[in-house]
Amino acid sequence: MTLGIVTVSYIGASILFILALGGLSNQETARRGNLYGMLGMLIALLAAIFGVVSANYVILLGGMAIGGTIGLILARKVEMTQMPELVAILHSLVGLAAVLVGYANFLGHDASITGIDKTIHDVETYLGILIGAVTFSGSIIAFGKLSGKIGGKPLLLPGRHWMNLTLLILSLWLCFSFVEQSAMGEGLSPLVWMTVIALLFGIHMVMAIGGADMPVVVSMLNSYSGWAAAATGFMLNNDLLIVVGALVGSSGAILSYIMCRAMNRKFLSVIAGGFGTSEGSVVSGGSEQVGEVIAIEAEETAALLLESKEIMIIPGYGMAVAQAQHTVNEITKTLKDKNINVRFGIHPVAGRMPGHMNVLLAEAKVPYDIVFEMDEINEDFPNIDVSIVIGANDIVNPSAQDEPNSPIAGMPVLEVWKGKTTIVLKRSMASGYAGVDNPLFYKENTRMLFGDAKQSLDAVLKAITS
Ligand code: NDP
Repeated sequence: MTLGIVTVSYIGASILFILALGGLSNQETARRGNLYGMLGMLIALLAAIFGVVSANYVILLGGMAIGGTIGLILARKVEMTQMPELVAILHSLVGLAAVLVGYANFLGHDASITGIDKTIHDVETYLGILIGAVTFSGSIIAFGKLSGKIGGKPLLLPGRHWMNLTLLILSLWLCFSFVEQSAMGEGLSPLVWMTVIALLFGIHMVMAIGGADMPVVVSMLNSYSGWAAAATGFMLNNDLLIVVGALVGSSGAILSYIMCRAMNRKFLSVIAGGFGTSEGSVVSGGSEQVGEVIAIEAEETAALLLESKEIMIIPGYGMAVAQAQHTVNEITKTLKDKNINVRFGIHPVAGRMPGHMNVLLAEAKVPYDIVFEMDEINEDFPNIDVSIVIGANDIVNPSAQDEPNSPIAGMPVLEVWKGKTTIVLKRSMASGYAGVDNPLFYKENTRMLFGDAKQSLDAVLKAITS
């Protein structure tokens, strides 16, 4: 394959990756976006295999077969709720690849690069390994925390910010030392020291972050993995890797920003760590929220729904756990057939990853035109007869507005309590992800339908169709 064809293929693949990102920003075009991404990756792989690689095809194809098989098995096995931890472990592989490619490149000594070009090349190698190592160890810890193998509590060492600063200064100094020694044909020792420091930094950075902020961290590590790939692209002189790395790096950074805004957290305070405990602790009523909890049964819920004109459904993480989305769709269809206006209100951080609820509702074929973002419907709650909160907790917690000392203070929430009646479906009085009690459950116009959301909704569906 000539260089011209490789370049054209790389440009084509880059355009497809940009189209993929554009497509993924909307649920109606997401499927197409995925197809663009797959096609772009296929073109990129073919161009690299036939246009760039010139030897060792057996090793290459063997590696692709092993990697492809592992990816296929994981993708088929993984539950929707385990997606963030899968993404975290995949990022660790991108980081590891950047480290290994960096070392291979350095040890391979390309004697044709000299002078200022060599200095630039060395800095690229150094940065690729540095970002790759932070991404690798940070992502492993993120995987451990998300999968519950490591506790969600933040590890707050005394003087940790100073420690981070010292590690940063040390890495800068090692960079100068590496470039200097590399000019004389050496430099392995500062490179190895920097790798150890970067690995420790990645571990320390993510250990200091509380469970509630982990998805933001995963998105941030996604961004790092992109920058590591871009640095590797500079090192290898590979334009496609630079473009794709920059796309992943910047989209991950934008996503982290959007998530922080939706949780009313400053990005720097997320990185500084300390918020959030392990999931699902049963909290005793905090300051003022101790009160009576009024339980309701499925039949009464069905009767309330049938008497309503305006219904708002608020799905949360528990709907994903219970896999209740198909029953939700059946109930929606039945109620709409009875001329009841049913809409969905989606909080930007409902569930465990951005768009989590949209994906589940799309899978169950809930029509897009009745699914609304929080900002579009939050004013409508005073006109709502019944809001059904399905396995959601933090995203409907009024203490975000009422209690300045609450860990979730300032986070925008869906104001369900302003409606006539709220029915909350959950299994117990346990807290949500942020580990805080929810005064909504004690309000006069709230009814608790206890049980697994799927089982409760199956019973409601039976009651409204009989
Ligand atoms: P929460 O984690 O606040 O609450 C989920 C609730 O679902 C729990 O209280 C649990 O109560 C209930 N539940 C679990 N399983 C079931 C089941 N089988 N049937 C019925 N109920 C069930 O989820 P939200 O969606 O309200 O909020 C998301 C949280 O995640 C926020 O704190 C957000 O900041 C955080 N987060 C989300 C991100 C994202 O991108 N989406 C990113 C960063 C953070 P019980 O055990 O009693 O059943």
